[in-house]
Amino acid sequence: MSKPSRIITVANQKGGVGKTTTAINLATALAAIGERALIIDIDPQGNASTGLGIDRQARMTSSYDVLTGAVGIRDAAMETAVPGLSIVPSTLDLLGIEMEISSAPDRVLKLRRALRQAPEGVPYSYVLIDCPPSLNLLTLNAMAAADSVLVPLQCEFFALEGLSQLLETVEQIRSSINPNLSIQGIVLTMFDRRNNLANQVVEDVRAYMGETVYETVIPRNVRVSEAPSYGKPAILYDLKCAGSQAYLQLASEVIRRERRLRAA
Ligand code: ADP
Ligand code: MG
Repeated sequence: MSKPSRIITVANQKGGVGKTTTAINLATALAAIGERALIIDIDPQGNASTGLGIDRQARMTSSYDVLTGAVGIRDAAMETAVPGLSIVPSTLDLLGIEMEISSAPDRVLKLRRALRQAPEGVPYSYVLIDCPPSLNLLTLNAMAAADSVLVPLQCEFFALEGLSQLLETVEQIRSSINPNLSIQGIVLTMFDRRNNLANQVVEDVRAYMGETVYETVIPRNVRVSEAPSYGKPAILYDLKCAGSQAYLQLASEVIRRERRLRAA
C-alpha cells in the first residue's frame, strides 16, 4: 500500500510573500528526494500552474472541477516536467467559485471531501496546496483539507502584520472542522543579508514565533525570480543557486517535522 499523503497548505493572506515560489520549489525538492508530490493550485491567478510550464490551453481539468466535485483529484492531476511532481492546475473559473458554493452547507469542506474520496487515496506522499492571497473560502477549504499549514513570511518591515489573523483562522478551523490541523512552520523568504532591516526582521520573527520558524531562510535570489518565466522551478532552472539550495534544505526540515507530527 502506498504511504498516506501529508497535505500541507501554503498560506498567507498577503500577496507577493513567496507562497507560490515556496509551493513550487518545495514540491520539486520533495520530488527530487524521491517523494511523489502533487501541487493543487487554488489561486485563480494560476501562478503555480504557469510557473510549472502548464499553458492555459492545456488545462483540461482544474481545481475548479475538483472543488465542484465534477472530477476526482487523480483525474484532474497533470504531470509536470519535474519527474515525480504533478499539479492540479487552476483556471479563471475559480474566480466564480465563492459565489457558486457560498450558500452550500459544506462550502468549506469541498476540497477535503475531494481528497478523501479519491479511491485508494491519492498516490502522492506530499500534497501542497498553493493558496490565493486572501483568507477567503478557497483558503479555508485548503485549511480544512490539510494536515498542516506552512506560512511564508517576507523579510520586510510589515512581515508580522496579519500573522495573528492568519493564526486565528487556523485556530478556528482547528476548533471546528479539522482538529488535527497544525502549523508546519513559518519560512522567512526573500532575505537579503546586506539589508539591516531584513536581519532585524529575522530576529524579531524568531523572538516572537520561536521554534515554529524554520532554521532555513530563503535568500532573495534573482535566479529564483527568473525561473517561472521559463516555466520551470528554480531547482530545475539553476540547481546550484543559493535559492534552490535553500529550498532543498527546507524540504529536509519539512520532512523531519512531518515525521515528528505524525509520531505525535
Ligand atoms: P505569492 O505567491 O505569495 O504571491 P510569489 O511566490 O509569487 O508570492 O512571489 C512574489 C514575487 O517575488 C514573484 O515575482 C517571485 O518570483 C518573487 N520571489 C519569490 N521568492 C523569491 C526569492 N527567494 N528571490 C527573488 N525573488 C523571489
Ligand atoms: Mg501566489
